[in-house]
Amino acid sequence: MFRGSRVLIEWADGAIPMEIYRGRARRVASALNALASARHAQAHKLLLASKGLEPEFRSAMCPHCGATVDLTRQPDAPQLYCPYCDTLSANGYADPELRKFRLCAKCGYFGQPRMFTELYFYFLLVVYGYRIRQQEFCSSCMRGVAWRMLAFNAPFLVGVPVALTQLWRAYFGGSRSSPLFPLLESGNAAARAGKLARGQAIYHKILEQTSPAPGVRYNLALTSLRAGDAEGAILHLEEALADCANYAPGAALLRDTYRRSGHPERAAELDELWGVTEPTAADDQAAQSNA
Ligand SMILES: [Zn+2]
Ligand SMILES: [Zn+2]
Repeated sequence: MFRGSRVLIEWADGAIPMEIYRGRARRVASALNALASARHAQAHKLLLASKGLEPEFRSAMCPHCGATVDLTRQPDAPQLYCPYCDTLSANGYADPELRKFRLCAKCGYFGQPRMFTELYFYFLLVVYGYRIRQQEFCSSCMRGVAWRMLAFNAPFLVGVPVALTQLWRAYFGGSRSSPLFPLLESGNAAARAGKLARGQAIYHKILEQTSPAPGVRYNLALTSLRAGDAEGAILHLEEALADCANYAPGAALLRDTYRRSGHPERAAELDELWGVTEPTAADDQAAQSNA
């Protein structure tokens, strides 16, 4: 998985972050994903073969990064989720617009996270200093950070142009100019401000125009949960999985919601479905020894 110039290599027992020249990060991550996922899928196929279940094995290739996505026991669905590059796709097409959308790591809503530069510069007579860092935020999350950055930098002027640039990006950039989900940031901003009915109305309007859209249904589930409507959230998440059967964020939230709302048997069914498609390291070893 890569974010900006950073590639995160995950092993069975941990993860190693690596800084890579920004322009090469995507290519390095894709090459690693393709190799690791193919090996993982092959191990699962061999494991099933050792049990006489090889015909159950099913996979698809992520058109964005070339990873092999294991779909064993997952029903057919219009979209594919790649857990390696955290991206949705449809019909094997690497849609450059769809690739921009995923969950925001800060607020958890499905949106269009973008790299955001935070710069704080101060100058006190003979002492000066600065702090700079880059993180991914959706537009809604950017707004609060950009206003804070402007307020801090205003007395010292040097950081003001950067703060104003990021403020402009937060209000006028992102998915507002996307042909795919131009209303999504408005829905997310309303939902995050607690205007849940307005946020849900916008999400439903998006779905009238663009469907399938498992991420938008995921946001509907989040707003239902905030409104205390677990059964509504379950319906939206089940619809998200009908749009994309292997949509891992939706499955994780659905599993948790089943458990919290008194449906442990449905959570167990989901666990069984996903457990089969996610072989453990021990399964990998067993399959290798059977090869
Ligand atoms: Zn991928
Ligand atoms: Zn966010």
